[in-house]
Amino acid sequence: MSLVVAKFGGTSVANFDAMSRCADIVLNNEACHLVVVSASSGVTNLLVELTQATVNDERRLQLLKQIAQIQYEILDCLTRPQDVAAQLDSLLSRISALSEALVLNRSKAIMDELLSMGEQCSSLLFAAVLRERGASSSSFDVRQVMLTDSHFGRAEPQIGEIAERAQQWLAPLLVNQIIVTQGFIGADSEGRTTTLGRGGSDYSAALLAEALRAEAVEIWTDVAGIYTTDPRLAPNARPINEISFSEAAEMATFGAKVLHPATILPAVRQQIQVFVGSSREPEKGGTWIRHQVENPPTFRAVAVRRDQTLLNLHSLEMLHARGFLAETFATLARHKISVDLITTSEVNVSLTLDKTGSDSSGQGLLNEALLQELSQHCRVRVEDGLALVAIIGNRIASTAGICKRVFEVLEPHNVRMICQGASPHNLCVLVSESEAAQVVKSLHQNLFEEGL
Ligand code: ADP
Ligand code: ASP
Ligand code: MG
Repeated sequence: MSLVVAKFGGTSVANFDAMSRCADIVLNNEACHLVVVSASSGVTNLLVELTQATVNDERRLQLLKQIAQIQYEILDCLTRPQDVAAQLDSLLSRISALSEALVLNRSKAIMDELLSMGEQCSSLLFAAVLRERGASSSSFDVRQVMLTDSHFGRAEPQIGEIAERAQQWLAPLLVNQIIVTQGFIGADSEGRTTTLGRGGSDYSAALLAEALRAEAVEIWTDVAGIYTTDPRLAPNARPINEISFSEAAEMATFGAKVLHPATILPAVRQQIQVFVGSSREPEKGGTWIRHQVENPPTFRAVAVRRDQTLLNLHSLEMLHARGFLAETFATLARHKISVDLITTSEVNVSLTLDKTGSDSSGQGLLNEALLQELSQHCRVRVEDGLALVAIIGNRIASTAGICKRVFEVLEPHNVRMICQGASPHNLCVLVSESEAAQVVKSLHQNLFEEGL
């Protein structure tokens, strides 16, 4: 049986009308038997706020009310709300109980269970919408198959085990039903709920597609594909019809929020095609991400990743010494931090931290313990308020004239760090957060809009 996995993001399942448009997309594709949903738009943010220590009782009740309202507005539009009302009520009571439990015990496991509730509600409601359209459909608890480690807030999926469980528990259900399941969430080997990090539903869909050897995974969102840059930043951004796995992976890694950075990995492993399109305007088509594309251009896109932290490490011990970097990297690895960009001079190392692995609950990466450990063998300076702008393309490191074009545009801006050459697919500059939008616009204008 050929299988297509469709994933719908938060805005796509924001309300009943949006869910109905998604139902049309599913029902128009005979191969689409597995649907992965995010929480309805805004719900995860409200849940994140509920996990914060600073939330007082009054605000807690307000947040619970807002979450319930979003879900009930969808329920009330169903022809037979009574079919799922009791289940929805019990999910909402669970949200309330978990938020109360957190007041007494700020456990990461409880936080993750709370954060998972948005997807549990939206999957229940979306399956009901499909049933009202006459489809045979039910919701499926993805925690039965999405085994992860116990790193709450940023759990690591266990690929082999997921495949075995998906074949055993999920595949048989897909034969004559449309199964709706949750993105973003999983469970550890003790059955405790975990989450994969913000935006993780795309990753969930790709993992399930890999486990079930699907033919394609469709990421339905609020834009008609992957654009040459975030269309919110540059109105002249153009949709890309076809892009390679490596280009798309670079874009996602460097901040194109339209895809979670890990999404491409499972697709590459199984050679599964990925489609990105708009659930509001499916007729506009979208972007196909494939193993190979014909004539990949020098410049493909500009991406931006905000909220970057730069660590400057200074130590005279570094001079003509060996092992300084090894020690630094080992310390960062112990704190589960991966380094993103790096530049070095004789007695200085500057590195940016990869924030794509931040916790679902938004907790920062840097902590006192790490800084103290690093301070034992060097002087540490932390700079915030930075943004990383990446020019993504092909043969960047081996094409003459690229730097001239890019640096002409950057002339009025202070570039804090430059990285180029490690990958043929990107050239990155670190600039102040306040200048990032202008840098992206100017680069886009110069590299993509000439002659438009
Ligand atoms: P969903 O909730 O469906 O997962 P997201 O908000 O996570 O949607 O991702 C879609 C958003 O990604 C778009 O609204 C757009 O602003 C942003 N985005 C950033 N870069 C790009 C890009 N290069 N192409 C398309 N969208 C982009
Ligand atoms: N609901 C989660 C989030 O808002 C996961 C997702 O939307 O992909 O981050
Ligand atoms: Mg997303």
